[in-house]
Amino acid sequence: MKLCEFIRPTSLSEARDKLRELGPQGMALAGGTALHFLQDQTTRRAVDITRLGLSFIRKEGDFYVVGATTPLADIQRYRAPDWTLHEVCRRIATHQVRNISTIGGNICRVFPWADLPVVLLALDARMVVFSDKEEEIVSDEFFDGQPTQRFADGSLLTAVKVPLLRAHQGFGVVKVSRNSAAFSLVTMAVSLELDGEVIKTVRVAAGGAVPFPRRLPTVEAALVGREAKSEVFREAATKADSDVSWRGRESLSPDYVRQLAEVSLHDALERAVSFARARNA
Ligand SMILES: Cc1cc2nc3c(=O)[nH]c(=O)nc-3n(C[C@H](O)[C@H](O)[C@H](O)COP(=O)(O)OP(=O)(O)OC[C@H]3O[C@@H](n4cnc5c(N)ncnc54)[C@H](O)[C@@H]3O)c2cc1C
Repeated sequence: MKLCEFIRPTSLSEARDKLRELGPQGMALAGGTALHFLQDQTTRRAVDITRLGLSFIRKEGDFYVVGATTPLADIQRYRAPDWTLHEVCRRIATHQVRNISTIGGNICRVFPWADLPVVLLALDARMVVFSDKEEEIVSDEFFDGQPTQRFADGSLLTAVKVPLLRAHQGFGVVKVSRNSAAFSLVTMAVSLELDGEVIKTVRVAAGGAVPFPRRLPTVEAALVGREAKSEVFREAATKADSDVSWRGRESLSPDYVRQLAEVSLHDALERAVSFARARNA
């Protein structure tokens, strides 16, 4: 894709109006790192959304609210007792990419290797989308298909709301890649709530090894009401086959990827349980 013009609106409504006016000839531009992967020959006018005051992280009520143009590097550096997004951001590409690439860019056009959609599905995040007014969309709905369709009318993502973890809740993510800057081969994320040693609720999501990030309902059903221990995690991980078909990647066979995914899921569950126990110790 080629860009022939940069437009720099000074307000959110001006950006939306400009995108509406341009239609398919326009595109919202955040970090711009995805252009490299868009191989089509079209020429577009870029509406730069990085100067609209959408780069922030703040605690509001029961959520951490992350502005859509917050760079991944800022998310990686942010710290709070129940902050969960830094771990995966630290594992995305290189410092240079993380300095300019944004949370919005990562989730508004989902590439097969995208890590944040997996994490946000597990955490049950809400996406705030501005069209004529602001609307909150739950992660299951937002990632039900490629989110770009949602923005074709000039709408913009303004923020992501990540629920605060309550007592007895934990989170774990495991990403496997060939080296620290390589694309994800497998990303598994888990958030769960313990009742003593029993798993009360759980959300499990997979990415990288599957065509599009998604939750694993059969695995979740195999975990709820069970004791939080390794044998249970291992057994539940084998059920992921019922929810997804694994993709062979980078010369790895689908069967190898499946095994990698099962081990990663087991480890993500271990991390989520340790996280929950540590918070209640
Ligand atoms: C070498 C390399 C390796 C990478 N590896 C990984 C990896 O392993 N895992 C991973 O998760 N990511 C990885 N990435 C990053 C990922 O592929 C994308 O490039 C990045 O997330 C896009 O973010 P951006 O801010 O640059 O978005 P942009 O390129 O600016 O935009 C991406 C798309 O989202 C739209 N968009 C952006 N913001 C909004 C908004 N607020 N509202 C509506 N639409 C919007 C744009 O119009 C465009 O269609 C890698 C990138 C590179 C260059």
